[in-house]
Amino acid sequence: MTTLRRPLVLSGFMATGKSTVGRIVAEELRVPFVDLDEHIAAQAGKSVPELFASEGEGRFRDREALAATPMLRDQLPRVISFGGGTMTVEAVRHLALERATVVTLTARAETIVSRVELLSGRPNLVAQSPMQRVRDLLALRREVYAECHAQISTEGQTPDALAKRIVSIATRDGLAMPLGGRSYTVEMADGEPELLTETLRELRPSSLLIVTDSNVRTARGAWLEAALRPLGALPRSIVEIVPGEPSKNLSTVSRIWDHALAEGVDRDAVVVAFGGGVVGDLAGFAASTLLRGVRCVQIATTLLSMVDSSVGGKTGFDHVAGKNLIGSFFQPNRVIVDLEHLSTLPARERAAGLAEIVKIALVDDAELLHALERDAERLASGDRAALRPIVRAAIQAKIRIVRDDERESGKRALLNLGHTVGHALEANGEYTSLLHGEAVAVGTVLEMRATARLGLTPADLPSRAEALLRRLGLPVSSSATEVEAAWPFVLSDKKRAASSMRLPTVTGVGRGEVITLTIDALRDAVLATCS
Ligand code: NAD
Ligand code: ZN
Repeated sequence: MTTLRRPLVLSGFMATGKSTVGRIVAEELRVPFVDLDEHIAAQAGKSVPELFASEGEGRFRDREALAATPMLRDQLPRVISFGGGTMTVEAVRHLALERATVVTLTARAETIVSRVELLSGRPNLVAQSPMQRVRDLLALRREVYAECHAQISTEGQTPDALAKRIVSIATRDGLAMPLGGRSYTVEMADGEPELLTETLRELRPSSLLIVTDSNVRTARGAWLEAALRPLGALPRSIVEIVPGEPSKNLSTVSRIWDHALAEGVDRDAVVVAFGGGVVGDLAGFAASTLLRGVRCVQIATTLLSMVDSSVGGKTGFDHVAGKNLIGSFFQPNRVIVDLEHLSTLPARERAAGLAEIVKIALVDDAELLHALERDAERLASGDRAALRPIVRAAIQAKIRIVRDDERESGKRALLNLGHTVGHALEANGEYTSLLHGEAVAVGTVLEMRATARLGLTPADLPSRAEALLRRLGLPVSSSATEVEAAWPFVLSDKKRAASSMRLPTVTGVGRGEVITLTIDALRDAVLATCS
């Protein structure tokens, strides 16, 4: 039998059938059903229209938040049908998206009005022109409703048919990136190429431009083929790049552009990034610039790209002056994280991905840090059962950060922990001696030791981070000579402003802050910690 891992929330405008369908879904999944309106009315001893009339909408939203929050927090499997406006409260929406699977039911304004006329007393429709009121509210809530795990049109669908589709979505393990009209989901899987098949059926592209590298094509090509085979005659072409960071440059981007234009891509094409962070950053950038932007699906094949680069919309490439200096913010339309890809990933690359997970745990997620410490050896050995919850939690943490600061004007900069020194070491090694994640591991330890010296990081944390990274199979130190040789690259780092810089700093367990300090103070403190 299919099982529910977390609550299922049905959202959407009034009269889209949330309660009717919700009851069927709950029965099918053998879990309790809660109609939030009924729940509130029972608790208050008054009907929803009465509460609306006597207390006003604001107070009613508070009641909804109060009622929904414990059900989302305890994460018991159940089906909850929200009121039409419940998701307009940001705190409730964010909690629901993190703790539950949210499915939004949609219908046209005409359909809603004709359904509502059969009912009575819907508080938000008491207006001169119900049709205009519905249209206004739908427009007002469009972005809110778009933030979900799936939107399903109820037009011409029977409740049973809808319930069946909802059950299949609810029993998947997707995560939602809530960014209004640019929201998307990150689908988690283990050996399920059909997730890509379904994604492409939904997106209905005119053609596919697949970007990959030769290692990924050899190791994972069969997965891609299995996903594309059912799509038959959909035109597709493939650009294969040389693996590794040295390819992340303008000339590779040019190659992708040239290829796409020679193939005659149009605005309805979809770029499929099939690979690690190098492929993802290049393909994402190409998608953001081709014809001023075509849609993009990210299929992450390295651990690093699963938890970091494929999610969040940063794209770009390296310049001789430094890493990632040219790029754009451009969100993908879907991300697919299929852990089976890790079965062919070299152990050293796997460890590099774990470094980015440690980084995110250090600045944002104490629970994730504990989980890493508990299971370090299993994770290092590539045990997929152990990796799955860790990968999911790391993606969720990244989603939280990007959701609140998409353009990196504040909190998102925390994800650069270890990257100031790390990037410099990576550049100094000409991107060949250290993998990106390895450089981040060393950078994290050196930066944490430095900020601990400056009294900004609790004294015991650098050793704790170092011990964990070591157990995960990562390098954790560098010589003073190396750091000195790499320092000019810190000076050219894009995050520098005059003589001072903003440095992501660990200020507690699972807590970070971006702190301004002088470059010289950082240099002295880093060098003092090196052998
Ligand atoms: P990568 O893409 O170079 O992949 C690492 C290696 O693994 C390559 O040789 C690749 O061919 C191979 N590979 C990939 N998947 C495989 C598989 N399943 N089986 C066997 N081999 C496989 O590197 P990466 O570590 O994934 O990404 C690093 C890049 O990501 C850096 O350029 C970094 O700047 C970027 N990055 C971007 C962001 C962002 O937000 N955009 C975040 C973090 C890192
Ligand atoms: Zn990184």
